[in-house]
Amino acid sequence: MQYEQSEIKERLLWLIKLRWIGCVGVLIATHVVREIAGLTFSLIPVYLILGFVSTYNAYFQYKLKSYTQDLQQCAIRQISLDFIALAAAVYFSGGCDSPFLYYYIFHIVISGIILPKKWTFRFAAVAIVLPSAIMGLKHIGILPHFAIFRDEPMLFTNLSVIAAYGGVFISTLILTAYFVTYLSDKLYKKQDEIKRLYILSEKLRSSIVLNDVIKTVKEELASLTSHSNIIFIPLDKSKLSLVHDDGDISFGIPLIDKNIFTDTFLSCKAHTLESTVVSSEYENLVFKLLMRDAKEIAVLPVHASFSSKCYEYFHCPPDTGCTAYNANDKRCWYISGTHCHGKIMRNNIEKLRQCVECDMFMPIGIFIVDITRKSRLEEKCDIDACMRLLDAASLAISNARLYEKTFELSEIDGLTGIKNRRAFLKSLESEIHRAHRYNKNFGVMMMDIDYFKQYNDAHGHPQGDVLLKLVTDIIVDNLRDTDIVGRYGGEEFIALLPETCKEESITIAERIRTEIENYKFPRTETQPDGKITLSIGVSSYPEDGDSAEKIIQSADDALYAAKNTGRNKVIAANVPIT
Ligand code: GH3
Ligand code: MG
Ligand code: MG
Repeated sequence: MQYEQSEIKERLLWLIKLRWIGCVGVLIATHVVREIAGLTFSLIPVYLILGFVSTYNAYFQYKLKSYTQDLQQCAIRQISLDFIALAAAVYFSGGCDSPFLYYYIFHIVISGIILPKKWTFRFAAVAIVLPSAIMGLKHIGILPHFAIFRDEPMLFTNLSVIAAYGGVFISTLILTAYFVTYLSDKLYKKQDEIKRLYILSEKLRSSIVLNDVIKTVKEELASLTSHSNIIFIPLDKSKLSLVHDDGDISFGIPLIDKNIFTDTFLSCKAHTLESTVVSSEYENLVFKLLMRDAKEIAVLPVHASFSSKCYEYFHCPPDTGCTAYNANDKRCWYISGTHCHGKIMRNNIEKLRQCVECDMFMPIGIFIVDITRKSRLEEKCDIDACMRLLDAASLAISNARLYEKTFELSEIDGLTGIKNRRAFLKSLESEIHRAHRYNKNFGVMMMDIDYFKQYNDAHGHPQGDVLLKLVTDIIVDNLRDTDIVGRYGGEEFIALLPETCKEESITIAERIRTEIENYKFPRTETQPDGKITLSIGVSSYPEDGDSAEKIIQSADDALYAAKNTGRNKVIAANVPIT
């Protein structure tokens, strides 16, 4: 893993301070030993080593101020120089009984704190080989014997003592290297995760658009898993299914079907799955269509839940038989009864519905991430870290989905379910831009129910509403999916027919008019001829106007003409009435 530069710098500065203290400590100690213990030894090697250490310590202290990059290399250089100084100290102070030997262990701790595991173990190997080589060379006489504390070190006399010293030294060294790097790695990882979560929350704060929020979360998951193939499958409450739809591939996974995706979602726990052990058609589908390169995936649930447990929130007494009392999470108790030992419980649909509608459990969906390891030595993906990230993002996703829903609702007419006037005008504006750019035409129809007031007055407003909905359905059924229909006013409708010329528009309008005329609406006895009829004015872009106002005005004028010349007819702008 990549260590944080600023963190390495801080730890290096701390090492430099420690080195100054060490130098002063050694200087005092040697003088104390000489004066108080009365040992007679040469101070020259001590001064040489201290001079060497102080020089590079001062150099690094000066350099580090302006250093911003490659601090790991800087740490490796510093620790290597420490090892050379230490080798000299070991050489001058004796053999395997040299007190300086144990300073290698101290340096392994330092390396473990600053550097990644592989470097600490490399230094541990050097800490074994270097003093052994010095002692070996001394033993065979290539290096002259020099010991400031004693003339004849134990090394050269007793083999069992050498083995004991060596064993203790090497095992202490390796264990130290292992524990320090283990703890240090954990610390760096936690720090990295906290930083990620902070950056994520900063990014999420800047957007409430669902696609942007999902994209941000996917980017973070991709950097945690080292794979870019991340899929979000949201829950569709109305279908009680997890529904994937990316334009090319679409399918739904009903919550009632037991598979890894629904299990993950309902149990609120992450699951992993290998491509070789798929057992349901959906699992197969995901590996074949969505995660083609993955050999192993993790399915991660996302829910935004309240911080309190449901029974606390609803003030339920403990004797209600609610299973949430025994659960360790914040899910609504309904959920625990939906699947039991692989079988779906009775009344499960109702339970599932209650569960997904419950205020305490805001279900969002699942993320599927590729966690295939690229090599055997690669670290396993930290699924807990992914889950913590999703926990942090869940409320933002939930809010973005609510915002999207609210936005959609703000564009829809509550009675008829088609676009309202504002939303229609927005679509009209963008169609004008599109038609202008690509040199296309389109038609607009203004439709008004004839003598609707009469119907309303005779049967009441609620019955009038029923009629409005029926008329809407007939209009929508007679148009293409690409056409846009809106409710322009009380009983006035407007439609936009992209890439349609005036003649075609008139034909379509005529078809709708005839359908309405022939449809058996309820209670039409009060209407002229006992029928509900529609008058339609048609206009076209670009010939009847090049702006929204002009096109609508032309269609409205045509509608007015239809009303004034007997109703139940289609009239087009700038077309002579026949
Ligand atoms: P014309 O043939 O000239 O169009 O006559 P009309 O009676 O249809 O025309 P007018 O515009 O005078 O009447 C429209 C009526 O539509 C008036 C109003 O009571 C009714 N209306 C408007 N909005 C609604 C609605 O949401 N529900 C119901 N039931 N009636 C509505
Ligand atoms: Mg009318
Ligand atoms: Mg009207």
